[in-house]
Amino acid sequence: MLQINKTLSFIREVFNSKNDEFIPLHIPNLKGNEKKYLNECIDSTFVSSVGKFVDLFETKVAGYTGAKHAIVCVNGTNALHLSLLLAGVKLGDEVITQPLTFIATTNAIVYANANPVFVDVDVDTMGMSPKALKEFLKENAELRNGECYNKITNNRIKACMPMHTFGHACRIEEIAIVCKEYNIELVEDAAEGMGSVYKGKHLGTFGRVSAISFNGNKIMTTGGGGIILTNDTALANKAKHLSTQAKVPHKWEYVHDDIGFNYRMPNINAALGLAQLERLDYFLENKRELAEKYSMFFKQNSIEFFDERKDEKCNFWLNAIVLKDKEERDLFLSKSNESGVMTRPIWQLMNKLPMFEKNIKGDLKNSEWLEERVVNIPSSVRINE
Ligand SMILES: *Cc1c(COP(=O)(O)O)cnc(C)c1O
Repeated sequence: MLQINKTLSFIREVFNSKNDEFIPLHIPNLKGNEKKYLNECIDSTFVSSVGKFVDLFETKVAGYTGAKHAIVCVNGTNALHLSLLLAGVKLGDEVITQPLTFIATTNAIVYANANPVFVDVDVDTMGMSPKALKEFLKENAELRNGECYNKITNNRIKACMPMHTFGHACRIEEIAIVCKEYNIELVEDAAEGMGSVYKGKHLGTFGRVSAISFNGNKIMTTGGGGIILTNDTALANKAKHLSTQAKVPHKWEYVHDDIGFNYRMPNINAALGLAQLERLDYFLENKRELAEKYSMFFKQNSIEFFDERKDEKCNFWLNAIVLKDKEERDLFLSKSNESGVMTRPIWQLMNKLPMFEKNIKGDLKNSEWLEERVVNIPSSVRINE
């Protein structure tokens, strides 16, 4: 049984907060070189998408994640959109994803003119279940001349886009094996995964291409921003080309050879990101300490806390607890938010939204179970500060 008042007092104690002070879910920590780099950026007059911080930020993120290439975008959503185009997704294709995710995952598929197909998640990762993926494909897909098709709709199934929920790794290796078997491109939505590692590899480096978000609520921020990761040099070049209006280099002429986008991150945002990246390891340590405190408290009180799995080093971006049922969840949400401790339920399932209710889906019982029970609790980098 969840003891709500005891839990809220504990959260206040951990965050060293006065009785009525508002505790947000996740706010940025901007106490490093952010101001210094922003000033440098302004002084240089290079405030738009050309400048030294943009290139430096790409190099540093590639170095940090171990990806061969990192290509910045103005946000995570359009980084996902471009990732799908880079994976070869075309008009009318189907892209398999999970229903338990933030809307941007699903929207990006639609921006790429493709149809999102929903398969279930695993209860212990909150990410796509390789078993559910395999079952769906076994029943619905076949290879025609080496390409995967949905036997029923006759649409091509071009890509699979699992998501690493709250920075916890999904069973990405098993998913990669299934994708390979069916010749489907693996595009990771690693929007929430900056700093998370699975079996020694950074999230977003398992698929052919992936995207990370640096929105203001993520573990590190560029204000708004995102980045594409890939080990494929040709794809990396194409990513940069498409994100800069597909402009062919020329001394003065406007030459464009494709439908491109104005998706490149401005230097101002990259300056912010560089300062944030310098402190990411500290953020990770601080968040790990917070997660350990939460873990201990919830264990003592017989509440399920979403902890790290074997082989995983999680960024603990947003801490999550799994409550008994929807009733307990709703009571906790209303009591906590009323008392100034911000909590949020996990997302409503994508297949329940009016835009996606007719989309193809597998059996979604794990997603439905989690949807009713998972709550995020305050997770900012703040303890000991
Ligand atoms: C934040 C997020 C995005 C989108 O990132 P933005 O930078 O906000 O556009 C995409 N997918 C998931 C799962 C996210 O959490």
